[in-house]
Amino acid sequence: MTFLDYLDTLNRDTLVSKSLMTTASDVERVLQKSKCDISDFHTLLSPAAEAYLEPMAQKAHTITKQRFGNIVQFFVPMYLSNECFNTCTYCGFSMENKYARKTLNDEEIHNEFRALAGKGFEHILLLTGESPKKVGTDYIAHAATIARQYFSSVGIEVQPMNQEDYAQVINSGADSLTLYQETYNKEAYSKYHLFGMKKNYDHRLLAVEDGAKAGFYKIQIGALLGLSDWRYDMISLAHHVSYMRRHYWQSKYGVSFPRINGMFGEFKIDFPVSDKNLVQIMLAFRLVFHDLSITLSTRENAELRDQLLPLGVTTMSAESNTSPGGYTMNTEEGQFDISDERSLSELKASLAKQGYETVMKDWDPFIATSIKS
Ligand code: SF4
Repeated sequence: MTFLDYLDTLNRDTLVSKSLMTTASDVERVLQKSKCDISDFHTLLSPAAEAYLEPMAQKAHTITKQRFGNIVQFFVPMYLSNECFNTCTYCGFSMENKYARKTLNDEEIHNEFRALAGKGFEHILLLTGESPKKVGTDYIAHAATIARQYFSSVGIEVQPMNQEDYAQVINSGADSLTLYQETYNKEAYSKYHLFGMKKNYDHRLLAVEDGAKAGFYKIQIGALLGLSDWRYDMISLAHHVSYMRRHYWQSKYGVSFPRINGMFGEFKIDFPVSDKNLVQIMLAFRLVFHDLSITLSTRENAELRDQLLPLGVTTMSAESNTSPGGYTMNTEEGQFDISDERSLSELKASLAKQGYETVMKDWDPFIATSIKS
């Protein structure tokens, strides 16, 4: 059974309806449990639970401290290319946006890596648009090989691949895969993804399992908040995590739920998510999945990122630039706007004031490799 088959058995509309009908006493009953589980997730996302964010936050803070201590792990995203052969209506890289496209050559890749390693980053996430003919598996694997000369941990966020191609990228040095479904609502998905391979909802969803079969040490999944009803998407994401952990337990999992912000053109956000509901989502994930990595991106502003830190965040990006070559060259259009523009040192200082230690290196893959060898 794949996750697609599993989704067919899960009545997500009913779970959303149950969430909307949840009462205060339902929420209190769940909060009294010593350990919440996946069957409690829709209750924690309910309108009724909004009145219980304070006790939820206290529980989430305690769990996060027990599991992760006062430590936040940093990574830096780096765009290798903005070539894309898809039309996604919310994205600056969408193929019909006319501007000069760029794919970094070896020298430019080395320059970017050198600059970022020089700032102290040890964990890099390599991103591309989706143009497999121009930026295919060989190119991505080659970039991962170079990245390992500079960084201890290398992740990829690129077009969905099959198991064999993922294995090639892993053998070249990558250890983590990030692949967001954008929205788990199939109808909404077809409204935003108009052209190219990305139109294929099932193909994207199943690629996560290919990544696990290929052996990625860590897999990050998520949805872009704003594209569809957020309760439907977050319930789907929670079940995706639960499914992957049950069937592919060898990989570690993380989630992210970035909110859409300034995009190209006149993209209208049909399902805006408030700060309060963003907090609620994060708390629900932490209460149900105690050891799940939760990433908060630089799409959120500095003040909110600082406030959310104690409630469950374990991983943050820093100094993000969404243009290929953006760390060392004057570049054109990015994929989306950044809200938290603090430098790494400013961010570290701000977190230190809150009592947090920042960790640049992801030790886990290194330890796992050492144990295997
Ligand atoms: S979201 Fe990804 S696939 Fe879609 S246009 Fe942007 S870069 Fe291309």
